[in-house]
Amino acid sequence: MGLPGGILRDGALRRDFAFRPLTGAVELALAEAARAGSPLPVRVTAALAATLEHVGGVAAVPTVVADLSVGDRQFLMGRLAVGLGVGESWLTASCSMCGERFDFAVDYGDLPVKEGGEGYPFATVETSLGPCRFRVPTGVDQEAVANLDDGGEAIQCLMGRCLVAIPGQMAGGRLHDDIVGSFTPDDCARIEAAVEAVAPEVAVSVQAACPACGAPHAIDVDPYRVLSPRSGEELLRETHILASTYHWSETEILALPQDRRRRYLDLIDRARGMAR
Ligand SMILES: [Zn+2]
Repeated sequence: MGLPGGILRDGALRRDFAFRPLTGAVELALAEAARAGSPLPVRVTAALAATLEHVGGVAAVPTVVADLSVGDRQFLMGRLAVGLGVGESWLTASCSMCGERFDFAVDYGDLPVKEGGEGYPFATVETSLGPCRFRVPTGVDQEAVANLDDGGEAIQCLMGRCLVAIPGQMAGGRLHDDIVGSFTPDDCARIEAAVEAVAPEVAVSVQAACPACGAPHAIDVDPYRVLSPRSGEELLRETHILASTYHWSETEILALPQDRRRRYLDLIDRARGMAR
């Protein structure tokens, strides 16, 4: 499956992408991206740039992956979880009706996906100022508002960034702030609905019924779960075992594809079992 949204290039949507072969070096770069103390959108950009080979027909450098729509980035993070072998996981929830704690499985490679709608990545909205044109938010926009604490301010800023054309002229520069400030609450609601309608999306909650009382629950899932603060620890442990056993260098070990590294570890385990 291609990107649910895609990159608009020369008037056509490109939805192709490919991840790099999964070596230890790529896993290490991902772990470093996950651990950096920067805001989440910046870490997502670093993680995708470290692991993607190309996207939309171009090299997946940070500026390119930052420019992907939010839905495309969430989708790619889900594919990455699957590629890393952590696509399925068990979550625990508490039932708000009967208090029972229960476990349920989430398959991150199989979360419902909504593709970009008609006109993606743009939406034209009838406002009190006339028809205005917006584009769907990207990772760059998320990075720009990541440090704004005030939710209202963040939405205003996002709206100004995503406004690409206003009646009679192309929007540009500081003009945005004045225009965004003059939208009525009704305009804002219509803008939000229109942009949401064309934006690609990955479900960020799953349905699970309580096994004790049957009450249905929508439980939030983290689309960026591969950015776990613990990621990389297992890789270090495995590298340590291979280095102590075969005396290979760190560079040599990290160049191995993940499945080959795991096969050597199996062999080491078995040899130890026989020696016991
Ligand atoms: Zn219950």
